[in-house]
Amino acid sequence: MRVTVVGGGVIALLTAVECALGGHRVTVVDQGPIPYSRATSFDQHRILRALHPADPRSTAAALSAHRHWLDLEELLATRFYERVGALTVLPPAAADEGALLLTGAGGHARTLTAAALADRYPHLSLDGALAGVLEEDAGVLLAERVLAACVGWLKWRPGIDLVAHRPVVAVDGERGRVRLADGRVLDADGVLVAVGPWARGLLPERVAKTLTLHRQSLLYCRVPGEQAEAWAATPAIPALGTRRGAWLIPPVAGTALKVTSAALCREADDITDHRTPEEYQHELAAEFGDLLPGFSPAWVLGSKDCYYLSYAETGGPLVVSLGGAAHAYAACGGSSFKFAPLIARTLADRVLGRVPAPTGLAALDTAPLDASL
Ligand SMILES: Cc1cc2nc3c(=O)[nH]c(=O)nc-3n(C[C@H](O)[C@H](O)[C@H](O)COP(=O)(O)OP(=O)(O)OC[C@H]3O[C@@H](n4cnc5c(N)ncnc54)[C@H](O)[C@@H]3O)c2cc1C
Repeated sequence: MRVTVVGGGVIALLTAVECALGGHRVTVVDQGPIPYSRATSFDQHRILRALHPADPRSTAAALSAHRHWLDLEELLATRFYERVGALTVLPPAAADEGALLLTGAGGHARTLTAAALADRYPHLSLDGALAGVLEEDAGVLLAERVLAACVGWLKWRPGIDLVAHRPVVAVDGERGRVRLADGRVLDADGVLVAVGPWARGLLPERVAKTLTLHRQSLLYCRVPGEQAEAWAATPAIPALGTRRGAWLIPPVAGTALKVTSAALCREADDITDHRTPEEYQHELAAEFGDLLPGFSPAWVLGSKDCYYLSYAETGGPLVVSLGGAAHAYAACGGSSFKFAPLIARTLADRVLGRVPAPTGLAALDTAPLDASL
């Protein structure tokens, strides 16, 4: 089959890899370079963890995604996964439940008491009433390296075409036709649209209006030399147990310490710039000043704002059928990177007319929303 994949983020590139593995001819087209620094996937790192507290299906799916990432490292012959573990800080009863959930799903987890947390992580100032769930088979995906590895692999495959700097302006699903801004038309037997936060511009209005755009601010920091050893033994922390939802990614493989907080995720009307307003930089610095002993604005190397779309009804991702063999990953949600190998496989199945492999994720395993209804 001939497949057109619109987008050059993690979802599009891994779907292209899936299609290429099946022997299909694939054209990947992006509005910018491939990969593109403005894409949501383009960042130093993303957390790969299995535990989703009180959510057995996502926890099981994340364990499966973890196995897929290990396979991808081999296939793409690139090391992009730093297995530094993941720590979720929770009230003690919830931590016990989380550890049980994870082990019940076939993973490995350890509960750490408040005293153990204080002992292991003296460079963090955690709430003394909280405990933690430590997953060892978890860590950090070096996101930019993942994208580069996909591009490097695709480039050398026969039948694969990477078309950069060509915005797509229209998709006709029934005809398998994609129109580029320069007037060129790509015809294919299957089409995937995975344009991350830009999806509203390419989808029918009735779908676009169900999608909410989010904008989140991040700070990138340098840790002082005397703390380097402690940080080298620090896992990714998707929840520091604070009211504002603070989380961080430690400095691994030469990257910066990245800190942010759910409180700094707000709704936005449009994708404009990626600059972090000063007030939010100050807010994050103040928040982490309380969480990281010794933290000062001098640690901050830079900041960035990133965008993602969510389906208003669920707050998560959304798959849409565009007619014929065309589908869109219309909303990527805030946690699609770790699930990307599962998402890509099921999207490739849909586009290629195969029975979709179940992922365990409700948004992917239910029938796609029909854009024509
Ligand atoms: C702050 C933040 C932190 C996150 N942390 C995590 C995490 O720790 N773990 C996790 O699993 N997930 C995380 N996520 C979510 C994850 O990063 C995203 O779900 C994922 O990267 C989305 O990938 P994508 O391929 O759908 O979109 P993108 O990476 O945005 O790619 C879309 C591509 O489409 C291209 N495009 C757009 N419009 C057009 C057009 N008209 N024509 C051609 N090309 C076009 C763009 O140029 C871009 O290259 C986070 C998200 C944010 C915002």
